Amino acid sequence: MKFLDRREFLGGAAALAASPALAQTTAQASMPGDVDVVIVGAGAAGIAAARRVAAAGRSYALLEAQDRIGGRVWTATGALGIAHDRGAHRISASGRNPLVSLGRLAGLKLTQPAPFRRLYVGSREARDSEYDNFTAARHRASRAIVAAGEAGLDLPAARTLPDLADWRGTVSFVLGPYSTTKDLEEVSTVDYARADDQSDELVCAGGLGRLISAAAGTLRVELSAPVTRIDSRGRGSITVETDRGSVRANTVIVTASTGILNSGAIKFEPGLPKRTGDAIAALSLGTRDRLIFEFKGNPFGFADDQRAIFKSDDSRTIALIGRAGGTDLAFADFCGRFGLEMANAGEAAMKDFVAETLAAHFGAESRKLIGRAEAVRWSREPWILGAGSVAAPRGGSYRRALGEPVHDRIFLAGEALHETWWGTVAGAWISGERAADAALRLIDRAGAAAERKASPRRRQ
Ligand SMILES: Cc1cc2nc3c(=O)[nH]c(=O)nc-3n(C[C@H](O)[C@H](O)[C@H](O)COP(=O)(O)OP(=O)(O)OC[C@H]3O[C@@H](n4cnc5c(N)ncnc54)[C@H](O)[C@@H]3O)c2cc1C
Repeated sequence: MKFLDRREFLGGAAALAASPALAQTTAQASMPGDVDVVIVGAGAAGIAAARRVAAAGRSYALLEAQDRIGGRVWTATGALGIAHDRGAHRISASGRNPLVSLGRLAGLKLTQPAPFRRLYVGSREARDSEYDNFTAARHRASRAIVAAGEAGLDLPAARTLPDLADWRGTVSFVLGPYSTTKDLEEVSTVDYARADDQSDELVCAGGLGRLISAAAGTLRVELSAPVTRIDSRGRGSITVETDRGSVRANTVIVTASTGILNSGAIKFEPGLPKRTGDAIAALSLGTRDRLIFEFKGNPFGFADDQRAIFKSDDSRTIALIGRAGGTDLAFADFCGRFGLEMANAGEAAMKDFVAETLAAHFGAESRKLIGRAEAVRWSREPWILGAGSVAAPRGGSYRRALGEPVHDRIFLAGEALHETWWGTVAGAWISGERAADAALRLIDRAGAAAERKASPRRRQ
C-alpha cells in the first residue's frame, strides 16, 4: 500500500519549497481494519468528509485509487518543469467559498486573476462596440435559459436561445462548453438556472493543489487503493473491497465522479436504487481537457491568469488562459463535444489546433512562440472520466436525489451533489462535509440504539 507522498502530489521540489508545513504520513503495508467510516476517493469531497469525521473523533479509512490526492485538483510540474494547475485553478465566488479561509489559514497567497476576458475578432482584439454587443448577447441568452428553467421547463438550453445574430456561435460556446463543459443542446435549462454566480474569483499562488494538500494536512490516505466493490447486504458492517484488501465500516461515503459511477467500476451489492442510478446517468460529466504550453515572452501582453476567447461561428473553438499562475505557461481548454473529439484525436492534434488558432488570430509567426506542450485529458483519466457534472435536459432535478442515502448506510458526495455550485471545488467540498455529517448522525443513532438494547433499564 502506498501512502500520500506530498512531494509527488505537489509535483516537484520547487513547489515543495514554498509549501505550507504539513505533518508527514507514515507508510504502512496493510489496510486499516474495521472503521466507523470508509471514504472512497481523496479529491476535494473526500478530504472534506475525512476532516469532518476525524474532527468528530471517529475512525475512518480514506481510500484513493490513484497514487496522489486531489482528484480534479492537481498541481504538478509534469514534463514542463513549472508547477501548474492541470485541473481546477480558480477559487470561485470567493466571498462565500470555504476554500478561501482554508487557504488563508494555511498561509497561502490568494490573488485576484485579471478581471476581464479578452475577445478576439479575426486578427485583432474586439472593439468596444463588439465587446458591448457580445456582452449584451451573452446576457440575453443567459436570461432566456434561466427564464425557461425557472418556469420549470426542463429543455435543452440551446432551444431557448433568442436571435443572437453573428454572436450565436461565440455565446453558445461561452455559456455551454466553456462554462458548463457540455454543449447547450445537452444542458438542462433547470440545472443551468439553479447554478450560482461564480464570479469574484481568486487563484492560489503556486497552484490550487497546494491548498487542497494543506487542507488534507495530517489525514491518513491509502493511495493506490481502488475500490471495486461495496457490499452492504449483511446486517452488520459494510465490506469495502479494494485491489489491496478489504475494509469493514459502519457507513461509507462514495465521492467518485459520476463518470466513474456510470462506468460501473464500483460494484454495489445490492445494486444502486433505480432513482440513484437514473440520477447518476442524468448527471454525467462533460469535457474540459487542457493543453498546457510554453508561450514564450508573453507576446500579446496577457495579465496573469487572463482569459481570452475568439469570435467563432460555432463551438469548435478553444479558450486560452495566458500567464497561468503568473508563469510563462498558457492553457488552451478544449471543452464540450468538440473538446472530446480533439482529446480523442490526441495531444498532437490539440497542439496543431492551438497553433492554427493562434496563427489565424495573431499571424503565422505566432506558431513559433509555442514551446513545449503537454495535454491533460480528463476525459480519459481512468479514475475521473470527464470534467464536471451537468444535468441532461429533463434531468434538472436529479441532484437532490443523489443526496439520498443508498440502502440507508451509504452516502454519495462530490461536485455533482451540490444543487447550485455543481462543477466546482467548493461544491465538492461542501457536499463532502454534508455527507460526513449525515454519516456521523447515523453512527450516533446506531450507537444510541445499541446502548438502549444493551441496558434497557436506563430508559425507565
Ligand atoms: C480542467 C478542469 C478545470 C477546472 N477548473 C475549475 C476551477 O477553476 N474552479 C473550480 O472550482 N472547479 C474547477 N473544476 C472542477 C473541479 O475540479 C471539480 O468540481 C472538483 O475538483 C471535483 O471534486 P470531487 O471531490 O467531487 O471529485 P474528484 O476530484 O473527481 O475526486 C474523486 C476522487 O475519487 C477517486 N476515485 C475514483 N474512483 C475511485 C475508486 N473506485 N476507488 C477509490 N478512489 C476512487 C479519484 O481518483 C479522485 O481522486 C475544473 C475541472 C477540470 C477538469
